[in-house]
Amino acid sequence: MSIFKKLSWFFRQEWKSYFVGVFFLIIVAILQVVSPRVVGIIIDEIALGTLTMASLWKWSAIILIAGILQYLFRYIWRMKIWGTSAELEKILRSRLFKHFTEMDAIFFQKYRTGDLMAHATNDLNAIRMVAGAGILTLADSISSGGITLFTMFFLIDWRLTLIAMIPLPALTLVSRILGQKMHKRFRKAQAAFSNLNDKTQESVSGVKVIKTFGEEEEDIHDFEAMTKDVVVKNKAVYLVDALFDPAIQLILGLSFALTIIFGGRFVVEGSISIGQLVSFFSYIGMMAWPMLAVGRLFNVLERGSASYSRIDELLKEKSTIQEQKDAIRTPVTGDLDFQVSSFGYPNSAEISLRDVGFHLERGQTLGIVGRTGSGKSTIFRLLLREYDQYAGSINYNGIDIRDYSLDALLSGIGYVPQDNFLFSSDVRENIRFADPSLSQQQVEEAARLTAIHQDILGFPDGYDTLVGERGVSLSGGQKQRIAIARALVTEPELLILDDSLSAVDAKTEEAILTGLKEKRADQTTIIAAHRISSVMHANEIIVLDEGRIVERGTHYELMEQDGWYRRMYEKQQLETKLEGADEA
Ligand code: ATP
Ligand code: MG
Repeated sequence: MSIFKKLSWFFRQEWKSYFVGVFFLIIVAILQVVSPRVVGIIIDEIALGTLTMASLWKWSAIILIAGILQYLFRYIWRMKIWGTSAELEKILRSRLFKHFTEMDAIFFQKYRTGDLMAHATNDLNAIRMVAGAGILTLADSISSGGITLFTMFFLIDWRLTLIAMIPLPALTLVSRILGQKMHKRFRKAQAAFSNLNDKTQESVSGVKVIKTFGEEEEDIHDFEAMTKDVVVKNKAVYLVDALFDPAIQLILGLSFALTIIFGGRFVVEGSISIGQLVSFFSYIGMMAWPMLAVGRLFNVLERGSASYSRIDELLKEKSTIQEQKDAIRTPVTGDLDFQVSSFGYPNSAEISLRDVGFHLERGQTLGIVGRTGSGKSTIFRLLLREYDQYAGSINYNGIDIRDYSLDALLSGIGYVPQDNFLFSSDVRENIRFADPSLSQQQVEEAARLTAIHQDILGFPDGYDTLVGERGVSLSGGQKQRIAIARALVTEPELLILDDSLSAVDAKTEEAILTGLKEKRADQTTIIAAHRISSVMHANEIIVLDEGRIVERGTHYELMEQDGWYRRMYEKQQLETKLEGADEA
């Protein structure tokens, strides 16, 4: 029942709909007892020989009208209660989605995608059931059960009613025990379903990898095992669920038996009429629904309660990245000063950055090179404020980035992630993702700058060509260039290219870099790369190794140092020459 308390905010908000719904529910419950009583009266009139054609017409009309009114009123309460419960699902879903978008990197590392999807579907469904089926069964079993019982007690015979109701407490017991069992098994079934969701998601997005490695058999095998697990655990739920109805039928049967034994005697004694006994039988039958409803109610409430706790747990998760109340809302601009003495990822004991510092005047370009895992992308994650817990400071124009609002900071940064991602929409929308109001001309300009314009014109529908998961297949280099155009199009204060030119050839790379230098003479750019040619024109280049700066300077300074940079440069030069020779 505590789930009702948890949802009380919603019931208070929607009390009018529920009031109307429950009101009509009660009217229906009253109308329901009319017909059986009328049938009983007709039978008594037949037995006494007092039934006339006129009274038969009258009673039939009453039965008919009661039936029609029930039909209408049932329609009203269904509309009200089901409709309102759908509203709850909508509210919770938007809340959850908004919450997801506000969460930090740590959250998405903690919860798997499949889990989050299961919460957003199954759990919300279970909560909606509380506000719909839950409220309905509660109100209906109380009103129709109560009114039927009242009629039996006062209009028929109170002794017979008490006797017929003796088996009832067993029902509460049965539904309580089975309900608890059900709850436990349902949780397990949910967890198994979550696993399966995760697996499906991973298999579908990784299907190409799975195929190239010839791992389909293994994958199908894993998938089958998980599907089986879901079936087994759901069967366990149904096993208990299936016990509910027979148990209730049995208890009801006992009630019938008691009524026949005692009711028969009362008729013979003359304390009730035969017609009253007939009505009474109908009423016991009508008590079946409220009884069943009690069992169902337990299911719905326990499921809803478990789901609500899970959703609540998700909603309670706080992003570690919090904006200050008086955060600066003007977009970042000016010189960038990065001084981090130490940073380690929250879930790892290792230090990923140590004493990394650089100062970039507005308009300058910084190059970052270093072996894989040396910390290049980590620098960007801090610049983008994906993580806050570092020792040191990152300043823009002398102001800590943590003093800016997230919007002011992020709207000033154009970021091309290492694993670039395109949305399932057309090329144009992908490029002007940050600002859909940008003109075709602006989009084209960005596309020209990243040397992708000609490629786009060659696509089946030009700028209207669908890309992303459901669109045309693009080459790695094409994807990269669209992703750069997307970051460039808003002319950000800071452009971050994280290994974003790795899949384009040397000539195209040079064209793009030269274009960027010209276009972004007044704006800051940071380029991380494995290819020295991507960074050699930068104002400063830092070489990272295990999170530390091991070399720094301009290209010429670094070439003189005779360290990792120079060795790497010469090696890559040689490779380019060999490739050139191959092609010749
Ligand atoms: P690459 O050239 O391969 O892109 P990188 O220089 O960008 O490498 P980073 O991604 O910055 O390397 O990683 C630096 C270190 O931090 C690595 O040891 C990596 O394992 C670790 N690391 C990266 N992301 C996380 C994370 N989310 N949680 C824990 N450790 C991480
Ligand atoms: Mg990286």
